Amino acid sequence: MSKYEIVMGLETHVRVKSATKMFCGCANAIELADEPNLHVCPVCMGMPGMLPSLSAGVVDLSVRAAQVLRMTVNETSIFDRKSYFYPDLPQGFQITQLYRPIAEHGNVKTYVGGQLKEFRVNRLHIETDAGKLIHSGSRTLCDYNRAGSPLMEIVTEPDFRAKDEVIAYLEELQKLMRWCGASDADMEKGQLRCDVNISLRPIGSTELRNRVELKNINSFSSIGRAIDVEFVRQEEIYESGGYVTQETRGWDDEHGESHSMRSKEDAMDYRYFPEPDLPHLVVTPAFIKEREIFELPIDRRKKYVETFGLGADDSRILSNERVISDYFEVLISFTDDPKKSCSYITTILFSMFEEQGTVVDFSTLKFDVRELGAVIGMTNADELSSTNAKEVLRELFTNGGIASEIVARKWLRQVNDASALEAIVDGVLANSQTQVTEYRSGKSGLFWFFVGQCMKESKGQGNPKVFTEMLKAKIG
Ligand SMILES: [Zn+2]
Repeated sequence: MSKYEIVMGLETHVRVKSATKMFCGCANAIELADEPNLHVCPVCMGMPGMLPSLSAGVVDLSVRAAQVLRMTVNETSIFDRKSYFYPDLPQGFQITQLYRPIAEHGNVKTYVGGQLKEFRVNRLHIETDAGKLIHSGSRTLCDYNRAGSPLMEIVTEPDFRAKDEVIAYLEELQKLMRWCGASDADMEKGQLRCDVNISLRPIGSTELRNRVELKNINSFSSIGRAIDVEFVRQEEIYESGGYVTQETRGWDDEHGESHSMRSKEDAMDYRYFPEPDLPHLVVTPAFIKEREIFELPIDRRKKYVETFGLGADDSRILSNERVISDYFEVLISFTDDPKKSCSYITTILFSMFEEQGTVVDFSTLKFDVRELGAVIGMTNADELSSTNAKEVLRELFTNGGIASEIVARKWLRQVNDASALEAIVDGVLANSQTQVTEYRSGKSGLFWFFVGQCMKESKGQGNPKVFTEMLKAKIG
C-alpha cells in the first residue's frame, strides 16, 4: 500500500461533428481518411489577409455538448489568439477561447464500480485543430486536412483519485457526446484525445503538488497503464527525496513509458490576446434553451431500474445509445409494458441482428416501432403465442410490413375459444390411451406431452393456457 494518493484532472479534446471546419467552408473530414490536403482553402492554410467566419454548426453542437455536461452557457464568449510556431500550424496561431469560454461549471455523473460518482467540469471552450505531420524516413510531410477543424476542449477539476474513475468518466463523456450528436468521440480515430494531469500527495494531505501533464494517450486501454507508470515514477522521486518537475510528458504506448516533452508553459508564453478578426460570440437565452436535453443516459438508466423495475444490465444496455433508448421509450408508450418491451429489444431483436451478421443499428429496421408494439399488445391480449410472435417479428425484421396483416396472412392468431379447442383435446386424449393410463398411474411429466400434442394439432394456434386448463379438468 502506497502512502501517496493520486490526484488527477483531465483535459479532453473532442472533435466537433460539424459539416464544415470552424472558420471556413472546407469539409470537416471527420474520418481523416481522404488524400492529404484535399480539404483546404486560403483561410485554413493561413494565407495573409484571409478572414475567419464562424461556422453556425460548431456553435450549435458545442452548446448541445455544454447542455449534456450540465454547464452554464455564456451568452457572450470571446475568441483569443494563441501564438506559437509549428509546421502543422500554417497560420502561426490557434484561435481558441482563454478568458471567456463558451461554457463553464458543469458535471458528469457516472457509475464507478457500481457507485454513482460526480466529476466537476470546469470549462468547455472551442478552438481550431492543427494539421498533421507525417514522418516518413528522413522527410516530414504536412497534411492540412485537419487544420482549422473544430475542437471542444473540456477541462475537469482535479477530482479523480483512481484510474477506474478516469476511464468511467471518459466512457460517460463519449456516451454524452454521442447522445447530443456533437461528436462520435471515437478515441481510436482521434475524435477524443485526453491529456491527464497527475500529481501525488501524502494520503490525508489536501495540498496540490506539482503536476505532470501526460499527452498522446490514444486508447482507453493505454490510459490505465499510463497512469500506473506515472504514479510509480513520481512515487520513486518523492521517496528518494526528490522534487517532481511541473512538465508535459509524452506517453509512448509501445514501450510503456513517458518522456519529457517540455516544461509546462504559462499562458504568457503564448502571448494570448483577443482575436482581432472576430467579434464576440453572442448566443441568446432562447438559442441555449432550445438545445436543452432533459434526460441523459444516466437518468434513463436510473429510471429503468427504479421506475420500470428492469435489471441493472438491461437498464445499462437500453440507455447506452440514444437511438435504442428512444426506441424503447416510444415502444413502451404503445405497450405500457417495460419488461416485455425490454426483452423483445435486448433478446429477440438483438439476436436477429446477430444472426444477420450485422451490428445492432435500429435506424435500419424495416418496420415501424408501432408494429412491434402491436405484436407485444397481441401477446398480452392472448391473441398471439410467444412462438408465433417471434415468427411475426422475424417477418417484420426480414421484409417489413404490418403485424396484423402478417398474423392474418399466416393464420397465426391464437384460438382461445374453448368450444373450438375442446374437440382437439378430446382427439388427442383418444389417440393417446397408453399415455393417459401411464399418466394416471403417476407419470405426471406426461402432462406436457398432452399440451404439446394439442398445440401440434392446432398448428400452433391454440392457446396453451386454455389447453392446460381443459386437460387438467379432463384427466386431473
Ligand atoms: Zn478551409
